[in-house]
Amino acid sequence: MNYCQYYPVDVVNGPGTRSTLFVAGCEHMCRGCYNQSTWRLDVGHKFDEKMQQQIIDDLNDPEIPKRGLSLSGGDPLHPANVIEILALIEAIREHCPGKDIWCWTGYQIESLSLPQWQVVKLIDVLVDGPFKQEQRSPQLPWRGSANQRIIDVEHWLNEH
Ligand code: SF4
Repeated sequence: MNYCQYYPVDVVNGPGTRSTLFVAGCEHMCRGCYNQSTWRLDVGHKFDEKMQQQIIDDLNDPEIPKRGLSLSGGDPLHPANVIEILALIEAIREHCPGKDIWCWTGYQIESLSLPQWQVVKLIDVLVDGPFKQEQRSPQLPWRGSANQRIIDVEHWLNEH
């Protein structure tokens, strides 16, 4: 897996003060996508153990307390990213107790594959669905268009 950007301190992508990783690779090709430079899987930098440790250290940094980690892109649930995203999330769960994990994806929750579900069941919030330019709504928090949903995963699993 490659990543395009990493913000150790971010107050825009999700609630509270967070760390945010933008991974490379997205197959949705949404019209009006603001992040087309992230579509290819081979752009950016290789995600490695060092980067994973950096995220863990930033989340646990007592100087700048973080509420959690945001995973965006690109698409963290791109089939080519799922194995490494799962490993990252498992490491965060082990080493960063109490931090929440939000993930943005262009897939809808109803159409996730089993490997994608392995990831999603370990996170707190999934913001799902492709960006639809005709439903673009800049005033909506944490999503670009009205079709996208902010889904509490535990609540979803209890209801379905
Ligand atoms: S899912 Fe996001 S990154 Fe992918 S094409 Fe759509 S808006 Fe762009």
